[in-house]
Amino acid sequence: MNRVFYKFRSHRNGEDLARTLRIISEGQIYATKFRELNDPAEGDFKMADGSAADLETRKVLHTQIRVVSLCRFYSNALLWSYYADSYSGVCLAISFPDDHQPESVIYNALHDSIVPDRYAYGHAEAAKRHARRKLDYWKHELEYRVIKLANSEEDKLFVPCTVHGALFGVNTPKEDRSAIEDAGKSVNPDFFTDEVELSAGFSHPCLGTGLGAHPRARNNPWWLSDGGGPLFRTDTNKCFKCDAPEIGDLKNGYFLEEHLLKEVDAPDYKLKANTILLCPSCHRKAHIDRDFLRHLGGNR
Ligand SMILES: [Zn+2]
Ligand SMILES: [Zn+2]
Repeated sequence: MNRVFYKFRSHRNGEDLARTLRIISEGQIYATKFRELNDPAEGDFKMADGSAADLETRKVLHTQIRVVSLCRFYSNALLWSYYADSYSGVCLAISFPDDHQPESVIYNALHDSIVPDRYAYGHAEAAKRHARRKLDYWKHELEYRVIKLANSEEDKLFVPCTVHGALFGVNTPKEDRSAIEDAGKSVNPDFFTDEVELSAGFSHPCLGTGLGAHPRARNNPWWLSDGGGPLFRTDTNKCFKCDAPEIGDLKNGYFLEEHLLKEVDAPDYKLKANTILLCPSCHRKAHIDRDFLRHLGGNR
């Protein structure tokens, strides 16, 4: 099964919408220059010694690396606000051919030295590997990236893709919805569209907070059941590790946090058996010290 990823888009003008329609009808998506990404700190790395080699790697990173930024899930309410212009844009469900598969972003490693990679693989590969790293305050986005190397600074690079459907926010204008639906149906009669609705959901620190947008339809396509992430809460009421009791509730917010025992790319990550509750302190430890939960057989 080819996995589906999500691309949020804002439509602030006619050209933004036209680009969305072209992604759908042409089956390809523009790969952005690394410098045009939304975090200005993106791409910094520890200069080894300010040598000519450092500057050369940085030049490749800034001029030749191209990135398609995607999300693993569509359900994070924060992402609808940031990237779909407060629920007025669209979230496209997209898959990619084998040789253009998105890779998960590695958080917390942005400022790592690139020297070992450069030694082992050269400037281009070191720059590509570095483009997968991001500071961990972006962790809640669960971003994935298709990372490509262009031949030159002027190169415009497009990545082939298939758009399976589109999710609209509550504020997406009617005309935009019908234009997107028409474009989708003209390439695929099964093109799926739906509107997401907000629900309180739960804060899920493993997946980032704000798991709150759900589609309304009942007969959903296969890709929707994955993109929603785990939305249940386990029945226990104490920290799995230290027995600290639950002191909150649905109305006031929970104290204990859901922790996933499997990575989100494991097919069974969302089974109830693979989620436990931890107190915030144990949860932090579980993510920092991989041995902390070892006896549970977890891998996070
Ligand atoms: Zn605990
Ligand atoms: Zn966790």
